[in-house]
Amino acid sequence: MRVFKFGGASVKDANGVKNVINVLRETGFSDLLIIVSAMGKTTNALEKVVESYLRNNTEYKNLIKNLQQYHILILEGLFDNKQHPTFSKINNLFKDIETTLFRNKSTQYDFIYDQIVSYGELIATTIVSEYLSDQGYKNEWLDARDLIKTDIVYRDAQVDWKNTQQNIIEKVNKNTLSVTQGFIGSDQNNFTTTLGREGSDYTAGIFAYCLGADSVSIWKDVPGVLNADPRVFEDTKLLSHVSYEEAIELAFFGASVIHPKTIQPLQRKQIPLYVKSFLNPSSEGTSVKKGQPLDPYMPCYIVKKNQILLSLSSLDFSFIVEDNISEIFSLFHDYHIKVDLIQNSAISFSVCLDDKFDHFDELLQKLKSKFKVTYNKNVSLFTVRHFTSDAIASLEKHKDILLKQITRETYQMVVKG
Ligand code: ADP
Ligand code: ASP
Ligand code: MG
Repeated sequence: MRVFKFGGASVKDANGVKNVINVLRETGFSDLLIIVSAMGKTTNALEKVVESYLRNNTEYKNLIKNLQQYHILILEGLFDNKQHPTFSKINNLFKDIETTLFRNKSTQYDFIYDQIVSYGELIATTIVSEYLSDQGYKNEWLDARDLIKTDIVYRDAQVDWKNTQQNIIEKVNKNTLSVTQGFIGSDQNNFTTTLGREGSDYTAGIFAYCLGADSVSIWKDVPGVLNADPRVFEDTKLLSHVSYEEAIELAFFGASVIHPKTIQPLQRKQIPLYVKSFLNPSSEGTSVKKGQPLDPYMPCYIVKKNQILLSLSSLDFSFIVEDNISEIFSLFHDYHIKVDLIQNSAISFSVCLDDKFDHFDELLQKLKSKFKVTYNKNVSLFTVRHFTSDAIASLEKHKDILLKQITRETYQMVVKG
């Protein structure tokens, strides 16, 4: 059996949904589980709904209406008959969003976020599944929340592998065509949880691992994994093969084409991952599997924007030593702040941080009571895997470099802006 994942960009409009069928014509319709993310920028739009709702701003109702309009437009491009039952199914899901917010008593942002933002995937999969049926491709719509069980860390939930595996084996029919949501799961009380932004790739990894799938294909708006993000770098080149280890490193350093958690479950069962273009489904793309690190071998460039460079030194004349460092790291953990890079000297300890959940200012207050703190917000972390001196020389040109670090295979620098 195969697992496919279609991301937001691939189903951003009616033509995108129609193109899912083009891809399946190329690859076959049976023994297939399709995972779909929210359409286009729906997740961002739902985040704004939650923020507006929590600010007691009635504007959120308009934001919901705009999003409903966007999805209705997609439906109108897919179904000629405006009485088609999918229209009322989607309208009901939008009503559910309003009802959930109306009935909500919680003030916990992360909890409300997961209950609302997850509708993006529920709506997208309903549309894709109904359209496939309408076109004669019988399929089963599965609610991922009945399958993927997690802890209660809303917005960044960890998978309960034992229960998830059991549910998936019990409830997914390997011999048919099934459609389910990326990104979402549920906790032990059946409240919705999410696996972290861009987590649908990870969902594909979870299902493939639990089903012992033959392969996973993630369909993207790029020809495959390139040696750099084409939005940032010119003259990018396609990597036709990447090893599991190398793909984990690239994703970990921030190559956003694959979610970093996706690969380890696949590696464990030696399931190949194909990253392919949804616009050109017959082209080769990239295969991620066992083998040499990269083919062709070349420097790979990664940039993470909007990072924070934080430096700490002691308030007295002492050094920053192991017990301070362990305390600092436990604070990073408590505030869900990820550490990208560490550099230590006798009197100062520097880290480059990814503050995905916007908790840095709270953390800062804590740190200021114990350390002398300096920081730069809005810095970029550049990473070059398999660097050459030419690659570094051209990258460093005209940059205001704050920190550099070089190991055998990896060059990193933090720059302003
Ligand atoms: P999805 O539609 O699945 O959500 P994403 O937008 O998350 O897709 O991922 C695809 C995007 O990742 C591409 O449009 C590209 O801009 C970006 N990207 C970043 N690094 C790379 C890379 N090394 N190779 C290819 N694409 C990359
Ligand atoms: N829709 C979610 C997001 O935009 C998950 C995903 O696309 O992978 O983050
Ligand atoms: Mg994405």
